[in-house]
Amino acid sequence: MPAPVSGTDDAPARRAVLATALGLAASAPALAQPAPGAPKRVVATFTVLADMARNVAGEGAVVESLTRPGAEIHDYDPTPQDVVRARAADLVLWNGLGLERWFERFFGRLGEVRQAVLTEGVAPIGIGAGPYASQPNPHAWMSPSVALVYVENIRKALAALDPARAELFAANASAYAERIRAVDAKLRERLAAIPAERRVLATCEGAFSYLTRDYGLREAYLWPINAESEGTPRQVRALIDLLRQSRPPAVFCESTVADRAMRQVAREAGARFGGVLHVDSLTAADGPAPTYLRLLEANADTILRAFGTGEPR
Ligand SMILES: [Zn+2]
Repeated sequence: MPAPVSGTDDAPARRAVLATALGLAASAPALAQPAPGAPKRVVATFTVLADMARNVAGEGAVVESLTRPGAEIHDYDPTPQDVVRARAADLVLWNGLGLERWFERFFGRLGEVRQAVLTEGVAPIGIGAGPYASQPNPHAWMSPSVALVYVENIRKALAALDPARAELFAANASAYAERIRAVDAKLRERLAAIPAERRVLATCEGAFSYLTRDYGLREAYLWPINAESEGTPRQVRALIDLLRQSRPPAVFCESTVADRAMRQVAREAGARFGGVLHVDSLTAADGPAPTYLRLLEANADTILRAFGTGEPR
């Protein structure tokens, strides 16, 4: 490979010598490309989006998440340091669809920072019940096929931010989309093994509308969206009644909320507490869901193990 293009004055002469030595024309396009500048700084509102963006950015941008693994992302309270970090970024990525209720307030303080909403172009599913019934369910990333829309929106935003690296971002996005499609196919096959009479996924938050739609499961939950009343006696009673009819072997709760109410549901409905699912946050690197793709697979493992259907991966 040719040596990197240097900025010094004798560079053209050295390039010509080198090109001749390599048997190339001095004007070979590989040598004529402008060198890209320093990688841009990108901030995402939460860990799942940051992981997706890292996959698309590769070495071409520095990506970080404003919120830490395990954080509650619906009602997050940004710190002054968050404002500083976001202001210093070249691009801020957020989910939209009403997920980050804190973000619009926060964004007013970000001045001119470039931003991209990753659910742009996604056909939303409505929230089924409660005071948010007329609003879109924001958890669209839980569908791998919808995640492909996120990936394309990230690619577009990065290419607009740093056109010199557009090809790198396109290649990374295409490789990552391929991996998402492969996990999607695997989940489809694995979850199809759950018998028809058990196909109810009961969780704390109603965050699985996109996932249950994709894989032909029925969704049940204690509360429609985090940050309203969570696990009230009325919500507990309604879910127990529903589960006594549909009788799935296990129920679940998510990593970012308290599971006390769901454990009560399990006891009274005669179901097992099947474990922790991951939606609104990745885990730290040593946890079961350190990346978006591992999150999808870890959830499928937990569901299938609790339902007693097949061995995990
Ligand atoms: Zn949520």
